[in-house]
Amino acid sequence: MNDMILLKQGEIVLKGLNRRYFEGKLLSNAKRRLSPFGKFEVTSTQSTVYIEPLSDDCDMDGATDAMTKVFGVVAVTRALACEKDKDAIFEAAKRYLADDLEAAKSFKVESRRSDKSFPMTSIELSQYVGNLLSDAFPDIEVDVHTPELLVELEVREKAAYVHARPLPGAGGLPVGCNGNAVTLLSGGIDSPVSSYMIARRGIHLVPVHFFSFPYTSEQAKQKVLDLAKQLTDYCGRLTVEIVPFTHIQEEIRANCPEEYFTLIMRRFMMRISEKIAEQNGCAALVTGEDLGQVASQTMEALRVTEACVDLPVLRPLIGMDKRDIVEIARKIGTFDTSILPYEDCCTVFTPRHPKTKPKLPDVEAAEAVLDVDGLVLEALAGIERVKFDI
Ligand code: ATP
Ligand code: MG
Repeated sequence: MNDMILLKQGEIVLKGLNRRYFEGKLLSNAKRRLSPFGKFEVTSTQSTVYIEPLSDDCDMDGATDAMTKVFGVVAVTRALACEKDKDAIFEAAKRYLADDLEAAKSFKVESRRSDKSFPMTSIELSQYVGNLLSDAFPDIEVDVHTPELLVELEVREKAAYVHARPLPGAGGLPVGCNGNAVTLLSGGIDSPVSSYMIARRGIHLVPVHFFSFPYTSEQAKQKVLDLAKQLTDYCGRLTVEIVPFTHIQEEIRANCPEEYFTLIMRRFMMRISEKIAEQNGCAALVTGEDLGQVASQTMEALRVTEACVDLPVLRPLIGMDKRDIVEIARKIGTFDTSILPYEDCCTVFTPRHPKTKPKLPDVEAAEAVLDVDGLVLEALAGIERVKFDI
């Protein structure tokens, strides 16, 4: 069967002069994600991307599922291409949508016609095919106001297309069209969600993880790598930068007041992330911080954390409830991995009584005893990179 996939573009269609650029990114992202499922021809006209399998052994279900995770797309539809002839279109609808037409109580046909040489108007075509479908499926009623099933017909340049029941797309903008950012990826629930949210605005991510072996185990690191791999379904190719953090944490513990452990540690994370951002052409840092969730996420603590860097710190979860974050984590498939019980470097050195309203000069004084620049350079020199290509 001449089955294909149509992607409806979302916000890209509002993009005036830059539209070609955004569309180009969407096409190259879609092509790359399709490659594990066979050979396809991918083209775009009139705010729709057409994906046609080039051989019979293409995995169309796998490809369709992958396309629901590509940012920049609002709807994903399997469609049948047929000859641009009213009876061929009816036959195609009858055969291709038979299960849907048998199961639904009511339906309506809608047509669009971008090929203006087609001899019928959209309304005439809808009526013609609608009547024949009514005869062919006597148990289904026509309901033009609230049909259970909407049968869509499109007459375009190359062919006509028949489809129904679009799947929701991932929304957002194509990854890579709005630049790069470093995302701080821990093994928790929040940071995979914050990463997903920023990638959805068209940002290519560079994930950074701070690893405190042997205080945190190889399994904790593997968990973060598993999360990164899961994120590639949405975020595309990722190279995770694993930063050795043990020496920094030991130095903080040996030399700084306990109440500032977490804050000073987080300031090191920001400084190192900023350097990695410079090396990778990134214009912002992304964290999973959420106002009021823990002592280091009060407004005062966030101010202290970000005061040591110049780049903007994007915190997409800042005003969200945990419940809503968990819902997204489940939807994007990271939740089950995130709740695996491996420790994070933050939990290993948690102070008993952290300051919830820290003052910047106090924290700066507390960390002044450390060789900050030297420790940052040492950590950068020890980075391990793990690449997830798709
Ligand atoms: P998460 O669920 O994302 O771990 P959290 O609520 O546990 O967040 P914290 O542990 O205080 O909060 O971390 C706040 C943010 O700092 C995280 O969302 C993440 O962006 C970053 N972060 C924390 N620990 C690490 C780490 N080991 N490596 C990289 N980033 C980290
Ligand atoms: Mg955490």
